[in-house]
Amino acid sequence: MENNFVSASRLMRALSNGEFEPYLQPIVSASDLTVSGAELLVRWHMPTGEIIPPSYFINRMESTGLLLSLTEKILNRAVSGLSEIKSMLPRGFRLAVNVTPSLLAEREFTQMCLALAEHDNIHLILELTELQPFSMDRQTEDKVSRLSDAGVAFALDDFGTGCSVLSYLKHFPVSYIKMDKSFIQDILSEKTSQYIVESVVVLAGKLGINTVAEGVETQEQVTCLCSLGVDYLQGFYYGRPEKVVTFCCEYNQHQTSKIP
Ligand code: C2E
Ligand code: CA
Ligand code: CA
Repeated sequence: MENNFVSASRLMRALSNGEFEPYLQPIVSASDLTVSGAELLVRWHMPTGEIIPPSYFINRMESTGLLLSLTEKILNRAVSGLSEIKSMLPRGFRLAVNVTPSLLAEREFTQMCLALAEHDNIHLILELTELQPFSMDRQTEDKVSRLSDAGVAFALDDFGTGCSVLSYLKHFPVSYIKMDKSFIQDILSEKTSQYIVESVVVLAGKLGINTVAEGVETQEQVTCLCSLGVDYLQGFYYGRPEKVVTFCCEYNQHQTSKIP
């Protein structure tokens, strides 16, 4: 399938057929190596059996106005799957959801997040990923404040790349900075990446913000990141994104055996 050129009617049909599947990837606390939460990542399960990654359709979903509906569907399915293992989850299990500025501006989406903020065990984190620089209007600013007051946290995704710029730290009540995997993957071989990670950890520490390293694939990277003081680790080393049911099955085992 050609990147992002799928027709709006095909996407709509896929949505109503339930072809979009929520996947969860564990996020591990660096202090005790237990799973503290997960990131929600969508996959398109085509009727042919092919599994299409999000980079092929997310932009198209947004441009055709279907991202709200997609996000609501996968978020609801993830929350109901996690609710089934509710008793095993620690209080405040963090569920990180990728959002865009346009989604944040949707009243329906913020209402849904406010309702989820009432959930006993699940603590929602909204990860901002965006391609265009954006300035917050008054209404979005109010929505962000209401969400934040209700306990919904915000993360800056892909920090250090694209438009995830420093000025966001001034405009958003940011609780987490996610350092892009390009820095993590070069951290042992390249001083620049190491210094960037080090500096972000220091900056985040001064601002009272937690850091998350993405794309962690080896024990050597874990050792280096822990020595630099990174708070959370995410990557194939700890687990690939899995269907919600698989994630839930493996969760208890992870917690008791202190993965990996
Ligand atoms: P992201 O938010 O930066 O998500 C992390 C991506 O890195 C995921 O790719 C994940 O599978 C991949 N990854 C995780 N650990 C490792 C690792 O150790 N090594 C490597 N090489 N990769 C790793 P994925 O699932 O293909 O998602 C790509 C992007 O699509 C995401 O990047 C996010 O921006 C977007 N996306 C995914 N799901 C959603 C969604 O439900 N809504 C929106 N708006 N965007 C989504
Ligand atoms: Ca993300
Ligand atoms: Ca990212």
